Amino acid sequence: MPRVRLLSKNLVNQIAAGEVLERPSSAVKELVENSLDANSEKIDIFVRNGGKTEIKILDNGHGMTKEDLKMSIMRHATSKFNNENFSEIKTHGFRGEALPAIGAVAKMNIISKTEKSDNGFEINVNSGNISNIKPIARERGTTVTIKDIFFSTPARLKFLKSEKHENYLIKKLIQKLAICNFNTRFQLQINQKMIMITKKNNSQDQMENLKSRIVDCLGLEFLENMREFSSIENGLEIFGCLGIPTFNHSNNTNQFVYVNGRVVNDKILNSAIKYAYGDFIAYHRHSQLIIFINIPGEDVDINVHPTKSEVKFRDSNNLRRLLIKSIRNSLKEIGYNSSTQNTRKIIEKFKPTHNFKLNIERNFFDYSVKNEKLDFFSKEDINDKIKSDHSKFEGYFPMGFAKCQLYKTYIISQTEEGFIIVDQHAAHERIVYEKIKKKFYDKCIRTQILLIPEIIKVDSLMIDILEKYDDRLRTFGIILEKFGEDSVLIREIPVILKECNIKELTLDILTEISENDKNELLEFEINKICSVMACHGSIRAGREMKTEEMNHLLREMESTPYSGQCNHGRPTFIKLDFHDIEKLFGRK
Ligand code: ADP
Ligand code: MG
Repeated sequence: MPRVRLLSKNLVNQIAAGEVLERPSSAVKELVENSLDANSEKIDIFVRNGGKTEIKILDNGHGMTKEDLKMSIMRHATSKFNNENFSEIKTHGFRGEALPAIGAVAKMNIISKTEKSDNGFEINVNSGNISNIKPIARERGTTVTIKDIFFSTPARLKFLKSEKHENYLIKKLIQKLAICNFNTRFQLQINQKMIMITKKNNSQDQMENLKSRIVDCLGLEFLENMREFSSIENGLEIFGCLGIPTFNHSNNTNQFVYVNGRVVNDKILNSAIKYAYGDFIAYHRHSQLIIFINIPGEDVDINVHPTKSEVKFRDSNNLRRLLIKSIRNSLKEIGYNSSTQNTRKIIEKFKPTHNFKLNIERNFFDYSVKNEKLDFFSKEDINDKIKSDHSKFEGYFPMGFAKCQLYKTYIISQTEEGFIIVDQHAAHERIVYEKIKKKFYDKCIRTQILLIPEIIKVDSLMIDILEKYDDRLRTFGIILEKFGEDSVLIREIPVILKECNIKELTLDILTEISENDKNELLEFEINKICSVMACHGSIRAGREMKTEEMNHLLREMESTPYSGQCNHGRPTFIKLDFHDIEKLFGRK
């Protein structure tokens, strides 16, 4: 019979390592967090081969004494916990698990020096075997070098992804940590190539510091598509930068969420973000944003998860509500903004090639001979012209005035800053959608009785659904009746949709409802039905529009919330600044 025995210390450490260290990036996380806990102002990270061959972290923090260094590699040895409440722990670590875990599965070298000590000390741990401590020269701070991680646990090694992917995970991790630690300078080198350098920020204005970090870590384009937001309620503070909806992404890796200064990846928060953006981004796309949540210590337990990525909130419903509210309020303000991503793409497309330029010159010459006077305007002239053409209008019109329609699909509008190309269907769809939604919530959808009721054939399954949702359809202004076993009779429809193909609209709505015949949130369902109605009730691409109609649409876009993107998150317009046009023609 097998006897009960204690596991060897080394095996215990390896098992523990499995929990803390999933892959090289988890080791980087633990080490950088240790450097942050040591109040380092500067942290340099060097990585080779996805971290599999080498990881080296240098900091200028408070360092360790010889005795502390000896202790630091023991299991459950920490300088960060003094029997206070868990909720009072402000450091990243406190379990004393990272260094021994790394030492159990890699070759680890630590060199550290404190302010007071004359020299530093060095220790080596090789898969659990600890060397003697030796004196060594170093400035104040700590260097930890890890080589051949997981070489003693081949099963884990096999589980790792390609070098490229592991590098990517490390880069994402450093981005996450650097964005929220504005005052620390970070440097990341992968295979001797500089990947990221961040400046030290010491502005009093945290938003300025954040913006500078965004540029350093994520680039200027990211910042250009962000809008600041903040809200505070009952001691719960939420602030940061929200990406405009058309600046969306294929996954959620560019959602940076922090709770009390810690990186988190929390289901409740993620789903609240998805929900708040739900109306403006196609279901499979993701917003890009940076959100800081500061919540009183007693209302949150941040120490539940070993790597602290999940948190427990005392009142998660309230937090969810507030987060959704503040995101939505700021999205409303973002209004008709469209992403600069598109504008950049256009600029690239517009750049003339060399051959093309020669042709232009010839044509231009021919043209200028035939037309004695060319109609050239300076920017001021254009503004004057806009005003004189439209002297009946007063005020500022960011969407400008329609000049022409192209392909019966796009409206070209001239604004004070440049010109805009509007996708007439997408823009109108958004406007109709917002109108229908408002009318629905204000309970004032007006209906119109059809003189001759329409009869449509539907699947018999649909008839059941129809009967079940009859009341709900009425609230949308659609009044139907069962007509035999496989048909329905449409008696009334919303006035706003009187021009559209009623049969198609009704079939689409029934399909939408039958697909949703589960437990979707009511608001989601309402918005989806409004969206189907809007799609049917809006100007089609391919319809010729008069100038007055086009201008009317532009004015409606200015006054409609969220008109910068259609219901599916595509932009409704793109713009080219006068300044950029001049650059493209080499005038500036
Ligand atoms: P924890 O961070 O949970 O305390 P670790 O195993 O990560 O556990 O580290 C053990 C101890 O080693 C820390 O409590 C700290 O005192 C010391 N230490 C680790 N890294 C550093 C560092 N970069 N600078 C100063 N001290 C450090
Ligand atoms: Mg630690």
